[in-house]
Amino acid sequence: MIFAESTAAAIRRLDRDQTLVIAPIAACEQHALHLPVFTDSILVAAVAERVERVLAERTLLLPVFWLGASEHHLAFGGTLTAKVETLQTILVELLIPLVHDGFSRFLILNGHGGNDDPLRVALRRLDAKFPGRLWTGSSYWNLARESLAELCDGPRKTVGHACEIETSLMLHLRPELVDRGAIADDPPTTRESLADLFCARDFGRSTDHGAVGYPSFASAEKGRKMLAAIVDRITPIARELIDIKLDSV
Ligand SMILES: [Zn+2]
Repeated sequence: MIFAESTAAAIRRLDRDQTLVIAPIAACEQHALHLPVFTDSILVAAVAERVERVLAERTLLLPVFWLGASEHHLAFGGTLTAKVETLQTILVELLIPLVHDGFSRFLILNGHGGNDDPLRVALRRLDAKFPGRLWTGSSYWNLARESLAELCDGPRKTVGHACEIETSLMLHLRPELVDRGAIADDPPTTRESLADLFCARDFGRSTDHGAVGYPSFASAEKGRKMLAAIVDRITPIARELIDIKLDSV
């Protein structure tokens, strides 16, 4: 069920134990020279809507929460942001009314890398405050990591930023918003010997055009396959979260 299009009465009728609340979160931030700033929100919405379509009776899909933690993109402009600590608190507060309303199964589906840390902290805080519920979340590309790697033709096999994956998905979903002539690759600038080290470095110091990866390898057809692969991977996970015993995770 789509929360934003439902009446409160219809939402009250949902079986609290058999419904998974899906909360898509994303961002509005610079996406290099060729993609619109709302890319992350458009993409995670597309994924979440398709999962909801398959499991409409047993999911409650919240509107995309589009304000992300994007301070590391500010150097390029075209960026709206919340601070990391603000976002983690907002994510907690976003879901509390639904806990009080009796829901107990939650999946935060993320579409923006900068939200990864606030997402995890928010879930930890929610679990401490409301134990016994199912508090889960991930970025969509992590849940579909293997299928996406197989579909990438460029040297980078994981999601970057305005990369082969995000650009392909946008060419499939909203081609009119992609400035094809402006596509430029941004190869990694991190030393390979330090690849496993998390380095907090803003985009202004780590990329020439605002991307991370190889958007020149993107295509609409690949985007179609990538979207299908992502939805195929997340739908059974959502189904499992609905069926699983609350205390068995
Ligand atoms: Zn992003």
